[in-house]
Amino acid sequence: MSSAARVAAIQLIARKSPQAIEARSTNVPELFGANVFGLEQMHQRLPKSAYKSLQSCMERGEQLGSDLADLVANEMKQWALERGATHFTHWFQPMTGSTAEKHDSFVDIVNGQPVMAFSGSALIKGEPDASSFPSGGLRATFEARGYTAWDPTSPAFIRETKNGATLCIPTAFCSWTGEALDEKTPLLRSSEALNRTALRLLKVLGDDRVTHVYPTLGCEQEYFLIDRDLQILRPDLVATGRTLFGAKPPKGQELEDHYFGSIPRRILSYMQDVEQELWKLGVPVKTRHNEVAPSQFELAPIFERTSVASDHNMLTMEVLKQVAQRHGFSCTMHEKPYAGINGSGKHNNFSMATDTGENLLEPGKSPEENMRFIVMLAAVMRSVDEYADLLRASIAHAGNDHRLGANEAPPAILSIFLGDQLTGIIDDLISGTKGASRPGGTMQLGVTTMPDLPRDATDRNRTSPFAFTGNKFEFRAVGSSQSPSKPMTVLNTIMADSMDYIANEIEARMSKGLEAAVNEVIVAVFKKHNRIIFNGNGYSEEWHQEAEKRGLANVPNAVDALAALGLPKNIDLFSRWHVLSPAETESRMNIQFEAYAKAIAIEGQSALSIARTMILPAAQKTQRDVADSLSSAKMHGLTVDKQTARLRDMSLRLEDFITCLDELATTFERAESHVGSDSDHAKQYRDYVVPAMEKLREQADLLETMTDDAYWPLPKYRELLFLQ
Ligand code: ADP
Ligand code: MG
Repeated sequence: MSSAARVAAIQLIARKSPQAIEARSTNVPELFGANVFGLEQMHQRLPKSAYKSLQSCMERGEQLGSDLADLVANEMKQWALERGATHFTHWFQPMTGSTAEKHDSFVDIVNGQPVMAFSGSALIKGEPDASSFPSGGLRATFEARGYTAWDPTSPAFIRETKNGATLCIPTAFCSWTGEALDEKTPLLRSSEALNRTALRLLKVLGDDRVTHVYPTLGCEQEYFLIDRDLQILRPDLVATGRTLFGAKPPKGQELEDHYFGSIPRRILSYMQDVEQELWKLGVPVKTRHNEVAPSQFELAPIFERTSVASDHNMLTMEVLKQVAQRHGFSCTMHEKPYAGINGSGKHNNFSMATDTGENLLEPGKSPEENMRFIVMLAAVMRSVDEYADLLRASIAHAGNDHRLGANEAPPAILSIFLGDQLTGIIDDLISGTKGASRPGGTMQLGVTTMPDLPRDATDRNRTSPFAFTGNKFEFRAVGSSQSPSKPMTVLNTIMADSMDYIANEIEARMSKGLEAAVNEVIVAVFKKHNRIIFNGNGYSEEWHQEAEKRGLANVPNAVDALAALGLPKNIDLFSRWHVLSPAETESRMNIQFEAYAKAIAIEGQSALSIARTMILPAAQKTQRDVADSLSSAKMHGLTVDKQTARLRDMSLRLEDFITCLDELATTFERAESHVGSDSDHAKQYRDYVVPAMEKLREQADLLETMTDDAYWPLPKYRELLFLQ
């Protein structure tokens, strides 16, 4: 009957075995970056002088001249042709949260003959039809054009399929009037702001050796794998990346037997394939393991400069999804594919590196490094406290609402975990005491060294949204599916703002001498922003109460969180640091309200259709069978009291289910036809459609437990989660 497809899929899975990689290489150093046209390739191929000018353009973020562009384009083309490429594409990150590409072949006809051509102008500038990408009103429809511009700081790369190869050129995407229409442009602008102010602050602290500061990023990426034969039988998974229905399975994650468990062979083969693909693309993937939930896994690379790491994370998500198909899996990066078990996040590890090879968040060995570290720590504290609302907005989207505010992921309250020892040091600095209780003794800024900070696992707090982990901060509340650019743009910008603030304050007190000035400033910053530090259990009810007392905001849903982008102080911040103009900020806010509304609309529509055409008929057939069986039993004069009661119960459930179904349909239509601002529209979905979907699900999940398994068309949780 209706469950036949489900049963067939399950039988198929039983016969699946690990897939071999098509062309396996065991020489990783040789493999690494084989499909990347980076600095090394340019160095090898370009004349010395050309390479030098390219390098200086990159360092200054300038456009290449047309001669140089032609030269680079020609070498890039030769390299790509040698690797079988027939097409090129500008690869960019529009505000859809994913990447975009439009392919052109190298083919040109010259004097009636086909040639493979690629000009400098095609390399540095593209003109995709931009009218279908979100612009939040920045682009009037009469001027729908946008252009993509090569970002030479991010190397070009080749994507291969069995049937060919394509040269991908990472680009920024702007409107003709110069407004950013992508995630990359503001990220680059914010990295520059961070560089400028970090250099200035270092200079104030007496360090003028450093000439460039880069934000660094390492993204730990969580994901779920589902067997593809089961996934395609779930229209909700196909359309939304998450299950909108599904009763709790007999076994979930309660045994905690999956985390760091031995990796199933079919999955491990998939991971190995992913890693090989990513190494070829120059993505330095490092770790792999099982996560907490069944069928949940994690991958992490070695950190890189943020703009490259961000591109690499986008590529990683693409590769994870594409390779999954080859292995008969579907990979979902949705924040909450299943109710009742953990969702997925992306941990964005952040620090700042100098061109002299130092990590500015590394507690130092010398007194000077020590002072620098404490100053940077003060900058982080001020940033997170003053702009907690912006950080919260940077991770706000429909998917992440299922994690933040639920008791499994970092709470929607932003706070910083520093660990007891570092918190003790800050307390001592604030109170001016000598900190006798601390191992390592007293600390005077710029005079004594800091005690070694333990970096072992005991110093970790998994419930904190923003944790210090030895020599970096880990922003853990980021959603698994989102581009890391948004939160990193905010983090860079607020760090620029705070480092600038601290540099100003120190400079104003320089007559007292550097150490005294620094001490006064950071003590004031620590005093003012101390409330943002919390080392306890972020899931606990006490923390929610305590946070409220401290005046820290708890914003559990994306729509309220996004409103922060409309506040004058935040618009002003982005504008002051030349990261986003007021118009760009406003457009981004509107795009995200719209994206929220669309995401919920798709879920609502999927829920309605599954409920009407799959769940209802299956339950009704079961009801009919039971009724038929009762009638014939009665004809034979049998006692059927209990069976009748069950039938009545089922029928009542069905009635409730239909009530909820009608309610969802009504709220959905009302939200769809609502006329108002983007924010009002999003609120309609949040306030009416989301709760109506939840109520419908409750009834549907009850019906699942009563319906004849032979009629149930949707793969069940126990199958989705445990069959591989
Ligand atoms: P976990 O937090 O799970 O223990 P790791 O300690 O291995 O994981 O680190 C997580 C990520 O942090 C990795 O991607 C790593 O490269 C990255 N990381 C380490 N140092 C830095 C740094 N200075 N800046 C940014 N990311 C970093
Ligand atoms: Mg981590």
